[in-house]
Amino acid sequence: MGLSNEKYNEIQREYETIRLKNRHTLEERRDYVYKNVEGYKELDDSVVSISMDMAKKRLEGDESVMDELHALLDDLKDMKRSLLKGAGLGEDYLDPIYDCPDCHDTGYIGSERCHCLKDRIVTELYEQSNILDYIEKNNFDTLRYDFYEGESLDLFKRSVQACHELIDTYDTHPTNLLLYGTVGTGKSFLSGCIAKDMLDRGYSVIYFSAISFFDLLAKEAFGHNSKEDLYNPLEYIYNCDVLIIDDLGTELSNSFTASRLFYFINERNLRRKSTVISTNLALDKLQETYSDRVFSRLLSTYTVCKLTGPDIRMLKKLS
Ligand SMILES: [Zn+2]
Repeated sequence: MGLSNEKYNEIQREYETIRLKNRHTLEERRDYVYKNVEGYKELDDSVVSISMDMAKKRLEGDESVMDELHALLDDLKDMKRSLLKGAGLGEDYLDPIYDCPDCHDTGYIGSERCHCLKDRIVTELYEQSNILDYIEKNNFDTLRYDFYEGESLDLFKRSVQACHELIDTYDTHPTNLLLYGTVGTGKSFLSGCIAKDMLDRGYSVIYFSAISFFDLLAKEAFGHNSKEDLYNPLEYIYNCDVLIIDDLGTELSNSFTASRLFYFINERNLRRKSTVISTNLALDKLQETYSDRVFSRLLSTYTVCKLTGPDIRMLKKLS
């Protein structure tokens, strides 16, 4: 689920950088204190020598003076803290520094991901989704039924239900969605709802307009991208949890787009990932444009939802 290994490793390196930065800050603070707080370094040196004594005695199997040495260390600790306080630095000035005190900047609490790592992953997923701006305003929180009436309202409700089903059953049996209908009937909006909800749950979502989707495929197929580029966008498109292809039919369609679409649909199904396709084309036009085999594959493996009604984008502008 979620990120590619490359991205995940990148985040791990960010954590390393945070730990390094904080260690560095702490070292600078210690240098400052050694130079400016009289007696502090001597206390630190005593701590080191007592600790070494303890280790030595433990190795020799002599536990008799441990309590005494522990008490001594506690005293030294208190003395150090009061020296720092006296110097106006705050008694915790030389405590370890963490951006996230909960996981000590490791990203994990035991074997569980810390909240900071989860947030970081969601942010990353958002950034790579291509749909960041759109879903800010177009999501389940802003969903409205009052633009629809009669049959259009029934169809819209059914589509919303299908979106929820796709989200709720993703882990057990991923489903696909084909949203079709005329311009402005809410297809892209519903894609946005799915995208935001899934991203917030920590799933990877990639959004493409059909034009940019087939553009990318053509570039890959005809080798415009550098082979040295380790990041293979196609691999990511195959593997992301939810792929959204918006406005299918607006691209320049030909036998290449039809065969690639067929391949993609199959590949995503094999990998048990959800795909959401929206189109302004009517079903017969879809069949005509992408061949019978694409059409029958769509019908057999996608939940097909029709949307009708007035152009809501226009209504929203007016309201
Ligand atoms: Zn954390």
